[in-house]
Amino acid sequence: MIGDPLLSAEERAYRDQASQAISALIPPDLPERMDRNEILYPKEHLKEMAKRRYLGVPVPAALNGGGRDILSDALVNEQAGYWGSAALACCRSFTSHGGVILWKYGSPYLHDHYLRPTLAGEKFVCQALTEPGAGSDAAAIQTTAERRGKTYVLNGQKRFIDGAQSVDYIIVAAKVRRGGHDAIAMFCVDTDRPGYHIKEVQTDWMGFRGLGSAWIAFENLEIPAANLIGEESQGWKILMEELAIERVVATRAQLGQALRALQIAANYAEHRKAFGKRLRDHQWIAFTVAGLATRLDAAYLLNTRAARLLDQGLGKAARLEVAMAKLEGVEAAWEVIDQSLQILGGIGYTKKYPIERILRDVRASRLTAGSTEMMRLIIERETFERLRDPAFRGEFVGDELRGSPLQGPGA
Ligand SMILES: Cc1cc2nc3c(=O)[nH]c(=O)nc-3n(C[C@H](O)[C@H](O)[C@H](O)COP(=O)(O)OP(=O)(O)OC[C@H]3O[C@@H](n4cnc5c(N)ncnc54)[C@H](O)[C@@H]3O)c2cc1C
Repeated sequence: MIGDPLLSAEERAYRDQASQAISALIPPDLPERMDRNEILYPKEHLKEMAKRRYLGVPVPAALNGGGRDILSDALVNEQAGYWGSAALACCRSFTSHGGVILWKYGSPYLHDHYLRPTLAGEKFVCQALTEPGAGSDAAAIQTTAERRGKTYVLNGQKRFIDGAQSVDYIIVAAKVRRGGHDAIAMFCVDTDRPGYHIKEVQTDWMGFRGLGSAWIAFENLEIPAANLIGEESQGWKILMEELAIERVVATRAQLGQALRALQIAANYAEHRKAFGKRLRDHQWIAFTVAGLATRLDAAYLLNTRAARLLDQGLGKAARLEVAMAKLEGVEAAWEVIDQSLQILGGIGYTKKYPIERILRDVRASRLTAGSTEMMRLIIERETFERLRDPAFRGEFVGDELRGSPLQGPGA
């Protein structure tokens, strides 16, 4: 089965159990209703997931988490993607990457006030990093959090924030002084505070619908100093740790969506006839399915490897592997879904099968949580770094005749 290798029998059983449970709690029409924006943030479904401990899966059970690990969280998200949608998986995974940093860096106050109720399905959370003037270049954010006695005062704007109109609090990145990435700190910000403004709720994403996406502003918004996550100086580290988990866990949902599309295409190709034989009996179709299955499986393996490295606590040391898992995960998912639609022909471009929605959904993942270009940048930097060879013979670079008898002595 695609995606199975490298999973232990226990992990497969956990994944299968999650598949059964999540398929049962997601009504078949939920993804389409979310796609039509009839639901803005599926709170009822998150509450059901909380009852089954499918929120914050890596967080200890004593804090209402699943008491497992990041790989298990990815397996749950895969099912949320397969049976649901990218948006459904996204609001579930806020509770895991947000949950992990609250668990690891948060004080007992933050645990009690935010983490426990979130994982119990009583409070809802999203995250705000992107600003109108800063997306990929996260260190360039301009939102400020100025310390004043026992409070921080926030000013600034955030854009494209999934669910910011519906949640109880937001994990916000803001600068505590002038500077670059080292000035960033992370905060829990309640959305019922004076000074919290929703400038626009955007529901017209190409896909990835059903959460709403808000442009928000903080205007002299005061929060208790206790809402700082970890230390001021740990902000960038916390943000990077959160993003690493998101890159692995969110991408697993896209792999689940790609698997669903490929499954539909493979079955369609067995039933549909053209030129007197089944589509699968046309070699181009059969070989396309073979190629897609191989690429998808490779993406699953990269994802499993990255999750395991994060579970070993490697964090920054796993930067390359996490970026590879994100890059190949979303690019493979995109190709698999696009080609699956192609195999269905015209019917693939309608809503009779969910492939057209899945394709629109997954397109977002090539932009979010670090775009495809950002992943390539990380990979090229790490690759050049790791492959640098001090013993490399550079004397022939651009001068291959140096020392050659043709050039004569002294050349
Ligand atoms: C569906 C969706 C949901 C989102 N949800 C959230 C959310 O909940 N919270 C949140 O904080 N943000 C969210 N975002 C924002 C998302 O993280 C940003 O869109 C993303 O980081 C890219 O930033 P940008 O849109 O400002 O593009 P830019 O940073 O302006 O980049 C534009 C293009 O240039 C490329 N580029 C930029 N720099 C380089 C470079 N050095 N070399 C090569 N190429 C480069 C980018 O990859 C991109 O293709 C969401 C976005 C989408 C589409």
